[in-house]
Amino acid sequence: MSEKSGKKVVIAVDGPAAAGKTTTCLALADTFGLRYLESGRTYRIVAYEALRRGVAVEDGRAVVGLCDDLIDESRSTNLLASTRYEPQELRSISVNRTVSAVARIGELRGRVTELIHLWANAQARCVVEGRDIGTVVFPSARAKFYLTARPETRARRRVQQEGRGSYEEVLKDVIRRDEADMSRSVSPLKPAPDAVEIDTTSLSVNQVVDRMVDVCRTRGVAIS
Ligand code: C5P
Repeated sequence: MSEKSGKKVVIAVDGPAAAGKTTTCLALADTFGLRYLESGRTYRIVAYEALRRGVAVEDGRAVVGLCDDLIDESRSTNLLASTRYEPQELRSISVNRTVSAVARIGELRGRVTELIHLWANAQARCVVEGRDIGTVVFPSARAKFYLTARPETRARRRVQQEGRGSYEEVLKDVIRRDEADMSRSVSPLKPAPDAVEIDTTSLSVNQVVDRMVDVCRTRGVAIS
């Protein structure tokens, strides 16, 4: 997918767990009529199904096989867009614990990247969030962001949003997933060299969106 060849717009947003990516991307998508994709959902679907079907997440081959089965089962719908799963199923404690193991499997990441490209090719203008969107999935996107915030702030926000789990438990999960995502050998979480980093610790959603819009304008990305 090439932005240069036409009016296609891809805004890539990466960052650690609970940094405000989803809230901000949804606000941006809503304001400017962009399609939105939460790539972490696919890793969560695979982790959820691995738990449900008893597939060992340490067995990379088995997990890739499961992903292929899920792609076949989803037939006409891209697995990314599957509406079969409830948000609370995909955000359970057991999925949170399992998803990092699934996400470190290189071949699985390749499959998910293909699905994202397939989805994005069908969109004129989109915003995609994840951990490797600016670094690996859309390295030539012109608008790239890396959202971050202090772990304590992220845990507090997540508890407020989801209304479940203790602050201590959520903080532990956030820190554990950050470490796993940043230290894996395949597509580790890190800012792309040309990503604009935004620390959202003391910013409102509107302030973050405003900064992103400014950067898009400066980089000649036509979002409005
Ligand atoms: O964004 P979310 O917290 O739902 O992502 C769940 C997990 O999926 C992350 O902790 C990470 O391990 C994995 N992920 C990834 N690459 C992406 C999106 C998510 O490795 N692009």
